[in-house]
Amino acid sequence: MQAARMAPSVGRQLQRLGVGSSRPRALVWQPPPGPARRPYASGAAQESKSFAVGMFKGQLTTDQVFPYPSVLNEEQTQFLKELVGPVSRFFEEVNDPAKNDMMEKVEETTMQGLKELGAFGLQVPSELGGVGLCNTQYARLVEIVGTHDLGVGITLGAHQSIGFKGILLFGTKAQKEKYLPKLASGETIAAFCLTEPSSGSDAASIRTSAVPSPCGKYYTLNGSKIWISNGGLADVFTVFAKTPVTDAATGAVKEKITAFVVERSFGGVTHGPPEKKMGIKASNTAEVYFDGVRVPSENVLGKVGGGFKVAMHILNNGRFGMAAALAGTMRGIIAKAVDHAANRTQFGEKIHNFGLIQEKLARMAMLQYVTESMAYMVSANMDQGATDFQIEAAISKIFGSEAAWKVTDECIQIMGGMGFMKEPGVERVLRDLRIFRIFEGTNDILRLFVALQGCMDKGKELSGLGSALKNPFGNAGLLLGEAGKQLRRRAGLGSGLSLSAVIHQELNRSGELTVKALEQFAAVVEAKLIKHKKGIVNEQFVLQRLADSAIDLYAMVVVLSRASRSLSEGHPTAQHEKMLCDSWCIEAAARVRENMAALQSDPQQQELFRNFKSISTALVERGGMVTSNPLGF
Ligand SMILES: Cc1cc2nc3c(=O)[nH]c(=O)nc-3n(C[C@H](O)[C@H](O)[C@H](O)COP(=O)(O)OP(=O)(O)OC[C@H]3O[C@@H](n4cnc5c(N)ncnc54)[C@H](O)[C@@H]3O)c2cc1C
Repeated sequence: MQAARMAPSVGRQLQRLGVGSSRPRALVWQPPPGPARRPYASGAAQESKSFAVGMFKGQLTTDQVFPYPSVLNEEQTQFLKELVGPVSRFFEEVNDPAKNDMMEKVEETTMQGLKELGAFGLQVPSELGGVGLCNTQYARLVEIVGTHDLGVGITLGAHQSIGFKGILLFGTKAQKEKYLPKLASGETIAAFCLTEPSSGSDAASIRTSAVPSPCGKYYTLNGSKIWISNGGLADVFTVFAKTPVTDAATGAVKEKITAFVVERSFGGVTHGPPEKKMGIKASNTAEVYFDGVRVPSENVLGKVGGGFKVAMHILNNGRFGMAAALAGTMRGIIAKAVDHAANRTQFGEKIHNFGLIQEKLARMAMLQYVTESMAYMVSANMDQGATDFQIEAAISKIFGSEAAWKVTDECIQIMGGMGFMKEPGVERVLRDLRIFRIFEGTNDILRLFVALQGCMDKGKELSGLGSALKNPFGNAGLLLGEAGKQLRRRAGLGSGLSLSAVIHQELNRSGELTVKALEQFAAVVEAKLIKHKKGIVNEQFVLQRLADSAIDLYAMVVVLSRASRSLSEGHPTAQHEKMLCDSWCIEAAARVRENMAALQSDPQQQELFRNFKSISTALVERGGMVTSNPLGF
């Protein structure tokens, strides 16, 4: 009823605002003002501008992180403000997350209302019927969805963040014109089909095949995909399949992955029943079968044989959205925890007066602040045209999904038994959140990605150092720079790096902690690469610890940047942000220090790794716990 009353007017409002011709479509990037830009990064112009890439090399590459980016112009800000109100109201007044969860389906009124809001085509250009938002604007709206209903969030995300994102990123003009208008309006729904029964994290091992016809006009698609979000609802699928590709140089034929846009209407596309799941129950998850589907050759997405790259680009491109949504989730959950802590009396006191509750609330706020800062940092970098943000995007997904889990778990703890009840809705959020550490790249695989991608760049530099040593006069600059850094590190003198020119002076101590942590981190990266060389790929115990410290470091830098901006602009919450930032940096720096010291020189660390391996091997051999009950039976 409410939806019927509200949605049309909101829809009209958005249509007017969203499809109007006066709205800007692309961001015009203005370089951030001031002399503080890139004061430290050295080296060739083609060097990566990514902070994360730099930190593995012991560099402070500040281009993308300082000052905290503000990418929206006045018109875009105004437009976004006009969207935030109606979208928030829609979720507060129309959508019923508990009902969606119970029905294991998004209510039809919600689906209709969202379509009228334009929520199915937020980033589709307005000339193709979408709302035409940039990444930062999208992040803000997704945050609202995450605050209210993650099941709905996955329905929308599977559709536009991965389902048809490939068409947006790689589609030809004809593909975009054919598919995007109906997808943007929600008339057709999209899904992303990569996972198969025998191929999860190892996406390159898919077996679904697409064989080209002798006439070259179509491919015949056979195979099945599992756990596809929107799989039972979708009309348009981005499908990844193996295709034979002939190497032009050698004539050899290899099986390579190609991406296709597949319509249900082609025939031969069917799906299984909705999966019964722990959480995000409202979102449809189903197996999808492709049985002799004839896919026209013009429906190849990107290049034949280039499908793996397409898949990775789509996933990389959408990760900031997950962090933004989960920042919203945490905001909502923290409000519930605070409400309970402020009103519940035990031992004659409101429980928020107890230190244990205070520490929980403070940590929850820090985790939300870091996640939100990362989400908008990454989205802004993308809007500024950055191409090197993959490590940062992966970190934002790992951090956001783990932070949201911790925050929600602690909210339940603060609420006591009430948190365990269905009625306040926090248990649903906890169930919904669990999948975020698994899909779109498990956090374990993404940790390996973060560490290995960073090490790869550092490794290139080290092999450059090797050739520089062979030709010392031609590479004097490189040698002097590197040797100097290594000597200084070994002598414990520090690298001479500083953040003081780019951060607010009130945050100088946190800046120093960050630089020190970065130096400790980079020294260990270098030592481990020299020790293991290419074999580093198999050193997962080491890689996990490097990734954890990389995450801590990036988190320190984003909060330093955001809090600096707030202090410089005299924001009303600036002093509160300073506390969040300082507290985060104190603890994160200590974690990095401890982890790196252990990796570098603690002999017990090696023993620990050997033990982990042996304990795990014994468990697998035994088929479970090796030890018996202490009673002996
Ligand atoms: C609700 C839901 C919705 C989904 N939606 C979609 C969708 O829309 N489209 C789609 O294509 N897929 C989707 N998926 C699939 C999802 O992306 C996969 O579940 C995920 O990629 C992990 O694959 P897997 O489950 O096969 O786990 P596996 O790859 O088998 O991994 C099992 C465990 O082993 C670890 N592991 C694997 N390899 C390594 C390694 N080399 N080193 C160390 N650890 C390793 C993993 O981190 C994990 O902990 C969805 C899944 C679910 C549950």
